[in-house]
Amino acid sequence: MPFSALGLSEPILQAIRELGYEKPTPIQQQAIPPILEGRDIIASAQTGSGKTASFVLPLLEKLSAKPVVRAKRIRALILTPTRELAIQVEANIARYGKHLNLHSLAMYGGVDSEPQKQALIQGVDLLVATPGRLLDLAHRRALYFDELQVLVLDEADRMLDMGFIADINKIIERLPEPRQNLLFSATLSDQVRFLAQTAIHHPVEISVSDNKKTKPQIDQWLITVDKGNKSSLLSHLINEEEWQQALIFIQTKHGAAKLVSQLEKRGIKADSIHGGRSQAVRTQILDDFKTGKLSFLVATGIAARGLDIDELTRVVNYDLPDEADDYIHRIGRTGRAGASGEAISFVSKDDFRNLCAIESRLNHLITRREIEGFEASKVVPISILNYRPKHKRK
Ligand code: AMP
Repeated sequence: MPFSALGLSEPILQAIRELGYEKPTPIQQQAIPPILEGRDIIASAQTGSGKTASFVLPLLEKLSAKPVVRAKRIRALILTPTRELAIQVEANIARYGKHLNLHSLAMYGGVDSEPQKQALIQGVDLLVATPGRLLDLAHRRALYFDELQVLVLDEADRMLDMGFIADINKIIERLPEPRQNLLFSATLSDQVRFLAQTAIHHPVEISVSDNKKTKPQIDQWLITVDKGNKSSLLSHLINEEEWQQALIFIQTKHGAAKLVSQLEKRGIKADSIHGGRSQAVRTQILDDFKTGKLSFLVATGIAARGLDIDELTRVVNYDLPDEADDYIHRIGRTGRAGASGEAISFVSKDDFRNLCAIESRLNHLITRREIEGFEASKVVPISILNYRPKHKRK
């Protein structure tokens, strides 16, 4: 079946030709016609199946029929779990829509919100957003949903894994009805189906899962270890498991500098970024890490905000963050664009309160491991998943 049989108009077909796509992938063949008809769909499709074009192409088609948008209004909302995916989806919209006159925007946390607010002022046809920043800007009246026509939940399973369910529900509550709803997920687990039931009406169900393994994109696990043994455990893992690269999050700048010198004493070259270093130095170190000149980067949470590193395979939480949201952002830096990633947390008894908050937010326990020779003498209890931190979240 050629693209021209799917009901897409010439400016879109031209962009597809220019990209060298010869024919639609199975998910595109199955999803584009019902989306153009206005149906809701839930689809299980992996990254790499062409799923982004399967919703972006028909959305462009529908929205280009009437490309007018009022100030601070959006017409299609695509929710994604990570900012990397938001950026990637928006880049696809720009490519597929290059012969149309539609506005798109990627909106995500960890960066200054002012330029995003400015970009919303003139109205946006297709907004790709991570849930936290979207809610934040909606609360601040930087955008309104009253002209929204279509909601897309992209990588819904990953959003649930990352603990975004409460935010997603808050967003859905604000959206107007009737609207079209599209849900894409690597797997249609019970949790995903439950979300679909609350948001989606009589959907067409599409499954193009191939036989390839559906490996979770981010492997999360934790190692229980005594506080004083964390640095030797890190050196041990780097050496024994032959790590090539890791971004290591730590609580304080003093701790960051100390860890770098401890690693160096054991022959592991590392560097750190924290609030005590100048912006120029941080930029240089970050460049070295991105280009692979530096393999091990130790960062405090504040210094790490806004880091954008491609293809990061491993994040280590040397200390757990005080905020569950920060944990989610940190692990979201791995497993990008279908690559698998690993998020490892070192947890001592002192980290228990933060662990409870994080596991409650994820709504599941993180797989535990002990490393021989580093067994914790102070037991870290098992979390109760209904823990809510007492302090008010920012
Ligand atoms: P996705 O599954 O959306 O992440 O897409 C995976 C890759 O396939 C992207 O690099 C797309 O540019 C590419 N792609 C999407 N649709 C087609 C197609 N019909 N023919 C060839 N490549 C495609």
